[in-house]
Amino acid sequence: MKFGNVALKAKELGFACRENELMKAHTTFRIGGPAELFIECNDVGKLGELLAVIREENCRLTVIGKGSNLLVSDNGIKGVVLYVCDDTVTVNGNEVCANAGAKLSTVCLAARDASLTGLEFAWGIPGSVGGAVYMNAGAYGGEIKQCIVSATSITLDGDIKHYTADELELGYRTSIFKKNGEIILSATFRLDIAEKQEIQAKMDDFLGRRKDKQPLEYPSAGSTFKRPEGYFAGALIEQSNLKGFSVGGAEVSVKHAGFVINKDNATCEDVLGLIKHIQATVKANFNVELEKEVIFVE
Ligand SMILES: Cc1cc2nc3c(=O)[nH]c(=O)nc-3n(C[C@H](O)[C@H](O)[C@H](O)COP(=O)(O)OP(=O)(O)OC[C@H]3O[C@@H](n4cnc5c(N)ncnc54)[C@H](O)[C@@H]3O)c2cc1C
Repeated sequence: MKFGNVALKAKELGFACRENELMKAHTTFRIGGPAELFIECNDVGKLGELLAVIREENCRLTVIGKGSNLLVSDNGIKGVVLYVCDDTVTVNGNEVCANAGAKLSTVCLAARDASLTGLEFAWGIPGSVGGAVYMNAGAYGGEIKQCIVSATSITLDGDIKHYTADELELGYRTSIFKKNGEIILSATFRLDIAEKQEIQAKMDDFLGRRKDKQPLEYPSAGSTFKRPEGYFAGALIEQSNLKGFSVGGAEVSVKHAGFVINKDNATCEDVLGLIKHIQATVKANFNVELEKEVIFVE
């Protein structure tokens, strides 16, 4: 077997591990061919040992969280795909510490239950803590940057690193991890005390707005494009009369033009073709370059 030693090590560490795992099962777009070797890391404390073997074997490595911002090639992903699913969350005073595989929703609920406010914006973002820190996820005026105090990561050489919020270089949908390729292990958020009912009301409000505006009934990866300076991607696409425009099974959502949805068994090629068409049309109409927010992986 091509990745025999890596698979052996993963199993020894108690990580589930499968060959040719279809990535469409691990992306909210429901798109993506097979990963050559798919490993589920349920304990970030043991990751160093796995990385040592991945290095020895010179394997290509792709890290994923909940796959909610990914567009995976129909041909799949070469090498090892590491799905970080260690979901330990602890609350200490007004701080919530979460391992990278924790769902944002789990962290939001833990914060609410401890009467801590500041993470409500993340309620309804279908990602993990790792993916949210990597992307500096945000919504409704909130973003990870506003409440994170620190994060830990591991380099591909196995060194553990600690970052303060300032060192994370968090910006619009970006962080230092986009540059350095380290694997995020955990993050700590500092929150404020508030009434549980107030917190719940905010969460309900934000989720209600999502349900009203977003095509949550179809698979997607959220907003397809970043917000161009001075504009809204959705408005430019709508004003280009592209709502409902489709390539194969991929369609510009009629409900929200900022979302490309998987309407009917779309392939990655369909989505990429549609993205290109949208970019060219918006450029021609408004002279604005739309940059993808979704991350293409192969
Ligand atoms: C319906 C819908 C609504 C959405 N709404 C929003 C929104 O309001 N705001 C917003 O910001 N986003 C939104 N998104 C996009 C997405 O949920 C976020 O970007 C989220 O933070 C991605 O997290 P993830 O765990 O799914 O990461 P993935 O999609 O799995 O990965 C995204 C990137 O993060 C990297 N990554 C993931 N985990 C780690 C780790 N442990 N270490 C290092 N790198 C890692 C991956 O390599 C990849 O490059 C939405 C998506 C959907 C489908």
